[in-house]
Amino acid sequence: MILIGIDYTNFETEYIKVLRKSDEKIQIERNENLKSKEIFWLCECKRCGNNFDTCTQNIKKIKSCGCIKKNRLDNKKYIPGYIGTTKSGLKYEVINYQDSIITIKFLNTQYILKTNSATLAGGYIKDPYEPSVCGIGYLGECNTPNRSQEYTLWKGLIERCYNPKRRDYKNYGAKGVTVCDRWKCFANFMEDIKKIDGYDDRKFHNKELDLDKDIKQSNIPINNKVYSLETCQFISKHINRAIVTRKKSPNIKIISQKGDYILKTDCPVNELANKLNIKTQYITRILRGEAKTHNGWTFKYG
Ligand SMILES: [Zn+2]
Repeated sequence: MILIGIDYTNFETEYIKVLRKSDEKIQIERNENLKSKEIFWLCECKRCGNNFDTCTQNIKKIKSCGCIKKNRLDNKKYIPGYIGTTKSGLKYEVINYQDSIITIKFLNTQYILKTNSATLAGGYIKDPYEPSVCGIGYLGECNTPNRSQEYTLWKGLIERCYNPKRRDYKNYGAKGVTVCDRWKCFANFMEDIKKIDGYDDRKFHNKELDLDKDIKQSNIPINNKVYSLETCQFISKHINRAIVTRKKSPNIKIISQKGDYILKTDCPVNELANKLNIKTQYITRILRGEAKTHNGWTFKYG
C-alpha cells in the first residue's frame, strides 16, 4: 500500500520519529514476503531510542518499537505470586518487589532471598540450602569460594560416602560410613574445621594434612563410622599413607641381623626383594619357615 502524496520523512508522532524510508534491501525482502508493495519506514522509538522499521499504515498507530510490551512482560515476573525457575531448574515464588529489590522464596527449601531484577533475570541465583553435592551436601550461608581447599575436602567427604559412582565409594559409603548431619552443610564444616584435632593452618594449606576418621574410631565397626568434629582428626599425609597401605597386603616384619626390629611393611615380596637386593625365593623361604635367615635378615608375617 502506498499513500500517495504523503512523505513521512522526518515525521514525528508522540511515540516515534520517522526518519526516512527504509533502505532498498529491506523493502525488497519485505515485498517478497508479503507479496505487496508496502513501503517501510525507518523509525526511532521515543521511549527507548531503538531504531526499527514499520509499514506506512502502522506509523500513526504504534506506541513503541515493542519495548513497552516487553517491559510489561518483564514486570510480570516481579509480581508477588509469580513462579519462576532458575538456570539450574529450581522453582521459586516472588514474595515481594519494592525499590527494585525482589524477595523470592525457593519452593523446595522455603529459603528466602533478596535479589535484584538483573540477577534474577540471568537465572543464576542459587539456593544455598538446595543439596548440590550428591543430593546430600549443601553450601549453607558462607562466602568461601567453591574452589577453596576446604570446599574440595568437604566435597570429597560427601562424595566418598554418598556417590556410588566414585571409585573409593566401596571403602566408605558402601561400607556404611556416613557424614554427620551438621557437616552435610559446608558452612558448618567451615565453622568447625579449625576445631578439628590436629588442624594446623599452615600445614593444611600446604596440603600436608589428611582428615582421618579411623584412629579415633578404631574400636567401632566400619558401618558405624562417621565423619564429624568429635570423630575425626587431621594427620600428616605420610602417616595416613602408611595406615592406608597397610590394609592392602599382609605385613612383613623385617628383622635385622642383630635382632632389633627394623621395619614393618606391606610391600609385596618381590618389590621388597628388589629393594633389599635379595632374591625373592630367599625371602619366601624364610616366610614359609623353610629357612631361618638370609645374610642375617629374617622375615616374618605380621
Ligand atoms: Zn522502544
